[in-house]
Amino acid sequence: MVDSETNQSPSAPSFLPEGWEIVCGLEVHTELKTRTKLFCGCLNEFGSYPNTNICPVCLGLPGALPVLNGEALEIAARIGLALNATVQASIFHRKNYFYPDMPKDFQISQYDIPLNADGYLILPSGVRIGIVRAHMEEDTGKITHLGGSSGRIHGAERALIDYNRSGVPLVEIVSAPDIASPDEARQYVTELRAILIAIGASDGKMEEGSLRVDANVSVRPIGESEFRTRCEIKNLNSLRSLVRAITYEAQRQVEVYTAAGEVLQQTRHWDEDRSITVALRTKEEAEDYRYFPEPDLVPLEPTESWIGGLRESLPELPRQRRLRLCDLVGLDSANDQIETAILPELYGFVDAALNAGVDPKLVVARASNELASLLPIPDGYELEWFSDLCRMEMERKLSSTQAKAVLQESVKSLTPPAVVRDRLGITQLDDDELMIQIKSIVEENSDEWTRLKAGEMQLKGFFIGQIMKKTGGKADGKIAAKMLAVLLSED
Ligand SMILES: [Zn+2]
Repeated sequence: MVDSETNQSPSAPSFLPEGWEIVCGLEVHTELKTRTKLFCGCLNEFGSYPNTNICPVCLGLPGALPVLNGEALEIAARIGLALNATVQASIFHRKNYFYPDMPKDFQISQYDIPLNADGYLILPSGVRIGIVRAHMEEDTGKITHLGGSSGRIHGAERALIDYNRSGVPLVEIVSAPDIASPDEARQYVTELRAILIAIGASDGKMEEGSLRVDANVSVRPIGESEFRTRCEIKNLNSLRSLVRAITYEAQRQVEVYTAAGEVLQQTRHWDEDRSITVALRTKEEAEDYRYFPEPDLVPLEPTESWIGGLRESLPELPRQRRLRLCDLVGLDSANDQIETAILPELYGFVDAALNAGVDPKLVVARASNELASLLPIPDGYELEWFSDLCRMEMERKLSSTQAKAVLQESVKSLTPPAVVRDRLGITQLDDDELMIQIKSIVEENSDEWTRLKAGEMQLKGFFIGQIMKKTGGKADGKIAAKMLAVLLSED
């Protein structure tokens, strides 16, 4: 079962020289899907015209006072509960640093007492990854560097600052250093993203920065118990970058040690174009930030009943979906089809079709093969259209070949499947008509038929192919195979 919570990580990844292993922890920043910002009433909205969602509080003007957004606090606690963490009494701190994207010259964050502590997440493989903490903080503004080639600060001629993002609520989720390979890192972020979307905490859009990942990577000889020096790779904004950056960085560190060198504690940047990590700066220590308690906000003291209410309100989580789908389809553990079917982008369709009583195997197959190939599903393609399509196939109003074609056209033209079927002039053969066609194919291919009757079973595929060809894909493959078997058993 995928349920085992005690699995050990698989052995070291094969791209490292023998005898070395990766120790990796991830810090994931997620922007919360609230209506307004964390400490003021400005809209929390991606893509607004620059510097329009701003006020004295999120611009850090003198005398402006923060007021905590209750909706953000609720979402942050729900994240903790969904990650099996303890939601505890906590306070806010000021994290002091100086950078133009931070107008107050400090960020309101949480330090030694986070809202959520000591949780865990279980990967689809069954490996358990510890969650050290998930704390609240405010986002910074956004700087865009102009001129130069890379859009980065080096070589830039000027910088533009947009404070719309300043003060947007974030939760930073810090994993334990339990991740042993780039693939586990990918699984972890995929599962975490699915959880955040399921509980309505985030839209999970990595490309819009709603989910940003930093990876702490170190390596050590297998058998060594001490951690070696780690490097932090900042702002990995896709799963592909995450996997490639960890792979590169682990290889780099092993090479440094193998050449008798020393790995320095650094913050590094993943350069996608050159496929390498480059040093940005020597990593700050916590004392560099001069943390102190935020005097303008009261301590957070969540009550048991408040926490209990939030716990009750949690929806079905991806892990439960996975187990439920396995059960419905009759599998012991999830496979690639199940993993695809529970993707946040597809699960709504799957769930609607299951609720409509369609055969779960058919739903999973159409979702993970055909619907997944049409991602992103455009707005306007409705949940029940997918159910309707699966039902039409289940009731043999469409063959599987026809169903695939109708699904594709239905998504493309945002039209209900029944309309598409009529428009394409698709009709289904009835069984009598199909039997007549099969018999004529048998007559036309009498040599092959004799060989099949003599036991050359691989010729079955040939006949099914001929039937599909002759009927223009209208025949249902399973029914055709059954009819062929009936004919074979006759004299
Ligand atoms: Zn504001």
